[in-house]
Amino acid sequence: MALPGDTPRHQGSRRKLVAELKEKGIADAAVLEAIGRVPRHLFLNSAFDTHAYDDRPFSIGAGQTISQPFTVAVQSELLKIQKGMKVLEVGTGSGFQAAVLYEMGAKVFSVERIKELYDRTRMLLKSLGYNVKTFFGDGNVGVPSYAPYDRIIITAGAPIVPEGLLGQLKEGGIMVIPLSVGDVEIMKTITKLPDGKLDVKEHGTFRFVPMLEDKG
Ligand code: SAH
Repeated sequence: MALPGDTPRHQGSRRKLVAELKEKGIADAAVLEAIGRVPRHLFLNSAFDTHAYDDRPFSIGAGQTISQPFTVAVQSELLKIQKGMKVLEVGTGSGFQAAVLYEMGAKVFSVERIKELYDRTRMLLKSLGYNVKTFFGDGNVGVPSYAPYDRIIITAGAPIVPEGLLGQLKEGGIMVIPLSVGDVEIMKTITKLPDGKLDVKEHGTFRFVPMLEDKG
């Protein structure tokens, strides 16, 4: 996609970021290519323009952050996306993760509980040509009207695995969820096996803003 405001300087920084993610252990070519295509600087306040491709989170207002690219890459890799899969994201935030999943060929459904972010990001994704379905609501409830999903990704630190969300995951489906333990989050994948059992695996420690139960 040729985008206004995506200059050779941004493209160069983006190539460097992709190389850095590779060095840090991201091996999935589809993930690296998708991150190499999404203009992260357009998902941030222009004040951060020169740092937009640093591997770090930034404030996006309303007390929230855009995830660090490494975290986005790890979560995207763990999802094992195949083209055409239906993916539900909890925590639209800046829209960057949703755009990466869209670039990977997923049908993306994303829910955000803060109205200001929901409104802003819905417009942004649309203006950049990312055909992502966005919803304003509580991710603990999921988006039952479009369930079931092949994949579910949670992009805020969850105190527990929301039962309602598990119910919206297809048999054979994978949920990627950062579960809060004290001050940090343990990245987990939960695979729903055909016999209904859950296969849970751990993938290291990360830091997320908390997932909240209501709008309080
Ligand atoms: N995926 C985002 C990360 C944003 S940070 C990105 O790429 O920028 C996590 C987001 O989850 C925040 O926007 C926060 O408001 C949202 N969030 C927290 N609890 C939520 C809930 N219960 N339902 C939906 N969104 C939630």
